[in-house]
Amino acid sequence: MVPNNNSNTQAPRMVNGSTELVAIVGSPIAQVKSPENFNRWFASNALNRVMLPIDISAQALAPFIDTLRGWQNLRGCVVTVPYKQQVVEHLDELSERARALRSVNVIRREADGRLIGDNVDGEGFLNAGRQQGFDAEGKRALVIGAGGVGSAIAYSLCQAGVSALSLADVSPQRTQSLAQLLRSAFPELPISTQVDSLEAFDLITNASPVGMGDSGELPLSEALLHGLPATAHVADVVTAPEITPLLALARARGCSIQTGPQMALAQAGNLGHFMGATALVL
Ligand code: NAD
Repeated sequence: MVPNNNSNTQAPRMVNGSTELVAIVGSPIAQVKSPENFNRWFASNALNRVMLPIDISAQALAPFIDTLRGWQNLRGCVVTVPYKQQVVEHLDELSERARALRSVNVIRREADGRLIGDNVDGEGFLNAGRQQGFDAEGKRALVIGAGGVGSAIAYSLCQAGVSALSLADVSPQRTQSLAQLLRSAFPELPISTQVDSLEAFDLITNASPVGMGDSGELPLSEALLHGLPATAHVADVVTAPEITPLLALARARGCSIQTGPQMALAQAGNLGHFMGATALVL
């Protein structure tokens, strides 16, 4: 074999007996991007640490979580679809927001084996915003989509000190139950479920799947979008396409924009930091 003398080529690190582990669990798992993001960061920081993708069947979830307690060379585990809700009941401690949202997307294993759960979807969103120069404190925000990610983003926006929050979802029941959850957690904050105009908003976030793929769909009516102010920061959670129809329209209007891939990358830092495996910003 011809030796590779290119000093820019980084040799893959060999897993050995002292390699520290983190994991990501879900089913299916082949589509997730976290192992690439984490393992690239571990390699470029010369750390003997690896993220394993784990595809677990629903029946094996409870014994898997129990096994994590005794898995001494594992720092933690990212949790993805469809297990974010199911893992909640198996953990020893939950962050305040994970308890309120009944949803966990990361578990840290303490040295004594206790498992602590948090949900950093919303923190990843805020982290991406900060990286784009947007700070949510004191801002008036609209979140479209009151599902798993929309709920986590809305909760974190409240924690970050927005001055007012509006919610919109095609399901009135989802809108109302998220509004109720947030009103009881943040009783001082004005929370509205009525959106008549976009003019008053500093932040408009699409946290629904609208705009995915080549659908060309927008999550708000043309009449509402006509009033989109150029001063607004417009964010989307959809990862493909990177520039969704909403973001294209916002950019053409002169708004600052924040993409789904920016959130995903920023959140990798929050996930790794919670497990004690990476810096907060990768
Ligand atoms: P979910 O099914 O839990 O929630 C989606 C919500 O959107 C539902 O409440 C649904 O009623 C609502 N909705 C659908 N069409 C709508 C419309 N036209 N107007 C208003 N609301 C509408 O899904 P989820 O887990 O919250 O995921 C939402 C999106 O976020 C997905 O596209 C997912 O891929 C993406 N996501 C992105 C990241 C990231 O880091 N960028 C992370 C996780 C998920």
